Amino acid sequence: AKQAGKNRFQFYNSEFCDLMVEKRALVGELRKAIADEELVVFYQPLFDLKSKKLIGAEALVRWFHADRGAIAPSVFIPVAEEYGLIDQLGHWVLKTACRQLVAWQSRYKPELVMSVNVSYQQFGRYDFVESVSGVLQGTRLAPQSLHLEITESTALIDLTHTKAVLRQLQSIGVSIAMDDFGTGYSSLSCVKDLSIDKLKIDRSFITNISTDERDAAIVKTIIALSRNLHMKVLAEGVETPEQLAKLAEFECDEIQGFLFSRPLDAEQFEAQFLQRNMN
Ligand code: C2E
Ligand code: CA
Ligand code: CA
Ligand code: CA
Repeated sequence: AKQAGKNRFQFYNSEFCDLMVEKRALVGELRKAIADEELVVFYQPLFDLKSKKLIGAEALVRWFHADRGAIAPSVFIPVAEEYGLIDQLGHWVLKTACRQLVAWQSRYKPELVMSVNVSYQQFGRYDFVESVSGVLQGTRLAPQSLHLEITESTALIDLTHTKAVLRQLQSIGVSIAMDDFGTGYSSLSCVKDLSIDKLKIDRSFITNISTDERDAAIVKTIIALSRNLHMKVLAEGVETPEQLAKLAEFECDEIQGFLFSRPLDAEQFEAQFLQRNMN
């Protein structure tokens, strides 16, 4: 038994080492990828549910590694966060997405918006607001066109800081969306204490909305909450017409998901949602 125990330990231990080596390699390559611009920003369309009109896009970063192929953001974003690379990466995504939106607004629809994810480290920096307004000035994007997505856990790290940052961002005209809403431990405290413009209902509540009455009740309640607190509400991860029908019944404002489109590169996004659809 002792022998088996020892072996088991060695097994886990070497796996742990592999993971560490793997991670270190990834950090080095990510650093290089950021410098060499091996990263690409993809765009997933956001729609108004009632009118079916395109509202804008969420910017989602992609890494196409020369040898390893596509690496998911759920793998490399946490690595970037842990190893101090997220500031540079996040700033690059923000700049790229804002620049792209300016081009699309002038060519197609001036009212399009861009929603950009903000990591807790970016948000926590003393000069975060300054760097956002720097990007807005540099790209000449109207602040009203920019939505920043933060999660509950980011918001709750330091409520005093969060309140101040949200106030400053909103005073320059930038909107704030609460991402993955409902998955944190204090969703209600967040909307109670903070000035939020939009709730993005997490996909985990949408998945079974048409078959599970409890999920349906939760989504309906979040939509009512948004209404009562004068926030917009978007459903993430809409994949089926049945889910869409439920969300229409509950009068959700906005929708996003594979039913309409996966995230696309700028060229595909433009061809599918802007050139064809110039209304
Ligand atoms: P998120 O912000 O919640 O982004 C939505 C994720 O759901 C995206 O995954 C998107 O591709 C996926 N998705 C959209 N519609 C559907 C659907 O109908 N079904 C399913 N199954 N999935 C759907 P993605 O692009 O892999 O990104 C994962 C996460 O990585 C994001 O979750 C976000 O937390 C993070 N991330 C991505 N890009 C950035 C970035 O530029 N900065 C930061 N800080 N985080 C990012
Ligand atoms: Ca998001
Ligand atoms: Ca989300
Ligand atoms: Ca998420």
